[in-house]
Amino acid sequence: MTAWGGDAAALTLLRIVSAASAAEASWMDFAACAEVGGDQWFPEKGEPVAPAKRVCAGCRVKELCLGYALEHRISHGVWGGLSEHERRDLLRQRRRAA
Ligand code: SF4
Repeated sequence: MTAWGGDAAALTLLRIVSAASAAEASWMDFAACAEVGGDQWFPEKGEPVAPAKRVCAGCRVKELCLGYALEHRISHGVWGGLSEHERRDLLRQRRRAA
């Protein structure tokens, strides 16, 4: 047994990680972008984000998607209806408000 709890702790950690992965997968199962397909959520520099944002506007897991992107500091693409720039601004506003 190690100082951090050995096999039992490893098993508990594995269960927590598995539960988190299952929770993330559950909202992703309802993603509108998965139904629509295409690569508009990851536009190249200078390409419009509006097509992706139009789909996001009607997505029923929009808030969860945005929360995921913010929590995991995802810097590329449109998530939760917000572009990279908009998410950076939102994080900046939250830091100032805290
Ligand atoms: S909010 Fe947009 S990027 Fe997020 S799951 Fe929905 S359609 Fe996909």
